[in-house]
Amino acid sequence: MTNLTERLGAQVRTVAGRTPENSTDYEFWTGLSAALIEQIADRWEKTTQAYAAGRQQHYFSAEFLMGRAMLNNLTNLGMVDEAKKAVSAFGKNLTDVLESEHDAALGNGGLGRLAACFLDSCATQDLPVTGYGILYRYGLFKQSFSNGFQCEHPDPWMEEGYPFVIRREEQQRIVQFDDLTVRAIPYDMPITGYGTDNVGTLRLWKSEPMEEFDYDAFNSQRFTDAIVERERVNDLCRVLYPNDTTYEGKVLRVRQQYFFVSASLQSMVDNFIAHHGEDLTEFAAYNSIQLNDTHPVLAIPELMRILLDEHDLSWEDAWNVVTNTFAYTNHTVLAEALETWEYSIFDKIFSRVLEIIKEIDRRFRLELAEEGFDQGKIDYMAPIQSGRIHMAWTACYAAYSINGVAALHTEIIKHDTLHDWYEIWPEKFNNKTNGVTPRRWLQQCNPRLAKLLTRLVGSDAWVTDLDQLKTIESYVSDDSVMQELLEIKHANKIDFAAWIKDREGIDISPDAIFDVQIKRLHEYKRQLMNALYLLDLYFRIKDNPNWDLTPRVAIFGAKAAPGYVRAKAIIKLINEIARLVNNDDEVGDKLKVVFVENYNVSPAEHIIPAADISEQISTAGKEASGTGNMKFMMNGALTLGTLDGANVEIVEAVGHDNAYIFGAKVEELPALRENYDPRYLYETVPGLKRTLDALTDGTLDDGNTGMFHDLIRSLLESPGYEPADLYYVLGDFDAYRTARDQMAEDYRDQLAWARMCWINITNSGRFSSDRTIADYSRDVWKLDATPIS
Ligand SMILES: *Cc1c(COP(=O)(O)O)cnc(C)c1O
Repeated sequence: MTNLTERLGAQVRTVAGRTPENSTDYEFWTGLSAALIEQIADRWEKTTQAYAAGRQQHYFSAEFLMGRAMLNNLTNLGMVDEAKKAVSAFGKNLTDVLESEHDAALGNGGLGRLAACFLDSCATQDLPVTGYGILYRYGLFKQSFSNGFQCEHPDPWMEEGYPFVIRREEQQRIVQFDDLTVRAIPYDMPITGYGTDNVGTLRLWKSEPMEEFDYDAFNSQRFTDAIVERERVNDLCRVLYPNDTTYEGKVLRVRQQYFFVSASLQSMVDNFIAHHGEDLTEFAAYNSIQLNDTHPVLAIPELMRILLDEHDLSWEDAWNVVTNTFAYTNHTVLAEALETWEYSIFDKIFSRVLEIIKEIDRRFRLELAEEGFDQGKIDYMAPIQSGRIHMAWTACYAAYSINGVAALHTEIIKHDTLHDWYEIWPEKFNNKTNGVTPRRWLQQCNPRLAKLLTRLVGSDAWVTDLDQLKTIESYVSDDSVMQELLEIKHANKIDFAAWIKDREGIDISPDAIFDVQIKRLHEYKRQLMNALYLLDLYFRIKDNPNWDLTPRVAIFGAKAAPGYVRAKAIIKLINEIARLVNNDDEVGDKLKVVFVENYNVSPAEHIIPAADISEQISTAGKEASGTGNMKFMMNGALTLGTLDGANVEIVEAVGHDNAYIFGAKVEELPALRENYDPRYLYETVPGLKRTLDALTDGTLDDGNTGMFHDLIRSLLESPGYEPADLYYVLGDFDAYRTARDQMAEDYRDQLAWARMCWINITNSGRFSSDRTIADYSRDVWKLDATPIS
């Protein structure tokens, strides 16, 4: 193969239709992507063939939050330096080229990013795993702020062309609804691994009409009629999680889910037959499917349908295949997030699937009745109840494995959320604590720290074996290394300050504590508690202008679901606090509040290496795991949080001395709730009344929407169907303030601070997704590594 510079030049000319010297950064990005695909094509095919022949794992997920692909691929292939040279040969700069890439934001948050980290770890470990999802035309909405309010815009992430997905026209399948038939075209994305020749695959399905348009209608000048069908089909893959507050919206979501699982199962079954013959009773010996939450649970009745109707298996044989194929991951204990669908939706769009679910339901009821369970329990647990299909319950019945995503979360699903299933089938339940890939979240996003770690470990072995970092923990007592760590963080903070200046127009001092909360906006994550703390801190600074407090920068990033009014109110509130604080000369550098617009994977990669504090302050019991917490830990930020999700395991790993833990514990909350009186706290906790009053007394302005009144009401009044302050914001406020104030005091001793950071970094091995994937592979998937060379 000719060298990269030549190939890049040729690719850029092909893409841009002009000389590389006059081409844009984005055209270089496209050209370089094409050159990369060229480089890996043969190995990708070889890997695909090797995997197709043996036992495989299939990861079904409605979301894959991939972020950018280029730097990850260059790093995995060991081509970063070569690419730098090739790009600069044309007078360009690799950093600019990388920054011109759009994020593939085909997901909402943690769940979708987890799927992406998992694919990375599977590829790195040569595991025969393929991801399956939907090629959304628009990623999660693009967020902007207008007068502090969130606005949503479409994110046409691949409109200008995206070389990292390859259309596989010849592998298309037909997906049949009762009222619509569509073609499903696979678009395959190569998933490179670190230091391996194997290249895995993410298969994203795109819906297309059977006929491009109705020729006759068009010829008869009925132009609109000619394209109606096409638009109906295109709607299927237009957006992630279409608004489902209307019935039509719900139908569309269910269609999306069925569309991608049906197409995926068809291609799996065809592959099985091609390699192992027509006897599909053996299907589960070669295939297992992980259901990432309930969105792909329709795969259960759909595989039954394929086996029964298209391959003539008996019900018993088909059920035996299904119950040995599916494994289900639960991601949440929030009741509103456990999907159920109206019976009538299924009846309208796939009556045969509904028939199968009814039969599953009938047999379930029979089975439990024979075991002697009482009718109340059977009715509660059955797949169909009072006219709704319960996706999680269906998954729990059919799956051979049910897992939670952190130790505490798994205990909660066993003893609460899924307690009845656990009683009957305890052997199905297991924990798989989440992880994140150290390639993207440490090596690539924090090159300064990565270099130090490589030097101290003596090699880059930590990149694929993060436990190696434990071997350098003892440098904690080497002041010169600790000094170096401080310098690295400071340099990262300078870079981040420049990035923020450029993006948001705000000046922040790299000498301040960078205190970060970045995650989806949800009441249980309690961004509101953080906001109240900042407002209270502002008043305390105003009370005492000579207060020598450690300067602070509070950084937020969060999108609110478009229909989630209260979450949007919290965004507006934070932006109002930012306006108040940032424009007060008396406050100056003591406190700045920055809300990064359009939080996404690539902003996270800029923010996390610069963070000092990782805010993980969810109400205990509500955050299943969190993965942001792990990314921060690896990058030497200290957790300031509750004992929730994986925070529990982070504290186990680093010790209470190296984290700031506060607030009510899960097991304490029921008793605390008994006599909970948020009004009393409002009156008596020092500073709280003034802070809450500021929302409605004219200090802060919600643009006459009444939003801030609603926030106060949510904290102080019960609407009847739920208690006041459901998420215990006021209950934990005082403990939160104490912990955060203490943290800011401790920050003054920089060497002591560095030691805490070091303990976090060097004990983060457990939170590599390589560990998580090794656990799944060994305990659930029963997979062997399949290296191609
Ligand atoms: C890691 C990540 C998340 C998950 O964050 P949590 O704090 O665990 O909720 C969400 N969004 C993006 C873009 C991420 O990278």
